[in-house]
Amino acid sequence: MSVCHMKRFSLVLMLLLAVTVSGRSQNNKEIKAASGSTYAEKQGSYTPSFRNDGSRKAVRNVILLIGDGMGIGAVNAAMYANGGELTMTNLKTMGYVKTQASDDFTTDSAASGTAYATGRKTKKGFLGVDTSATAVRNLPEKLAPLGYACGVVSTDELNGATPASFFAHQRSREATPEIWADLAESSLSFASAGSRKTFMNLSAITRDDIAEAFEVVYSPEDERVTGSERLLYLPESVSYDERGDYLPATTEMAMEYLSERGDKGFFLMVEGARIDKEEHANNFGGMVRETLDFDKAVEAAIRFAERDGHTLVIISADHETGAVTLGNCNPDDGYASGTFASRGHSPVMVPLFAYGPRSREFSGTQENSEVSDKIFMILTGKAAE
Ligand SMILES: [Zn+2]
Repeated sequence: MSVCHMKRFSLVLMLLLAVTVSGRSQNNKEIKAASGSTYAEKQGSYTPSFRNDGSRKAVRNVILLIGDGMGIGAVNAAMYANGGELTMTNLKTMGYVKTQASDDFTTDSAASGTAYATGRKTKKGFLGVDTSATAVRNLPEKLAPLGYACGVVSTDELNGATPASFFAHQRSREATPEIWADLAESSLSFASAGSRKTFMNLSAITRDDIAEAFEVVYSPEDERVTGSERLLYLPESVSYDERGDYLPATTEMAMEYLSERGDKGFFLMVEGARIDKEEHANNFGGMVRETLDFDKAVEAAIRFAERDGHTLVIISADHETGAVTLGNCNPDDGYASGTFASRGHSPVMVPLFAYGPRSREFSGTQENSEVSDKIFMILTGKAAE
């Protein structure tokens, strides 16, 4: 090796070292001290009648709402910021969910999303495939042939790990074009998430395949919405500042769309994706805002269940993020504060809330994979294979 090469080589080494060291300090040292925010405008909450809650009535529809990274810390913070109440904490049936991946005690959204979607624990990064990377059927694939219309709504990109778990089969959550290509072959009747830009950047072949399978619209007011058989709604943006009431409004749109199309009923997964992203950034105020927005989608689902009487609503999370703990709060002033002990995911159990007929089957402690199997059993009366 020449002197010049040696110099270059050691420069690269030094750079690598610097990157590693700064990455480490990000993970361990730069954790913010307690931060708080005041939320002047409380959004209120909804308390249903509990008329059919926990009854043995037949369930036609299941709505599964997943707050990405929504541990009990995030729920507490949002609740106290909102005057001490949330629609989800107004419910009476509660449980805990264990979130471990097959290869790691602390999961990611791909392994946990796959457990919720398929009833199988898998490795981190895997989507809709088992530990040996073989495709396993997800709830839409099991339910659609039986007459259930199925859908997903998320504030993430549609190829994000949680929504993708319900339609894709890939050994890498990073395989964006392949995940979108799986959408055309999927069992979904309704899909909405970000983003239009990602869709436009796909190959013309993939876009054509998707447009052949789905009516693709960019606005909920598009007149093709009502006439379509399968719908893909791609909003301009799913960021908090730009999406407005996207999550609760699209949850309503999906419930209406699916209830008109499923002969037997419907299954809908709704994800509040950005709670997790704010927690990774240790942004307490952002975490509270996103959890409150998610609770608006919960309210839309609970109101639907209340009107319908045959709908079961389940609210949980794929994992905790940020190891969030609570500081002093003042619910009267809408003030909440807390601390993050981590910039990553944590392995603690996450809370689960349920409302509607058969809700009691979700009380107690369960694995994320069991939630999937219970949903299938409650809808069809058959054990999941
Ligand atoms: Zn995360």
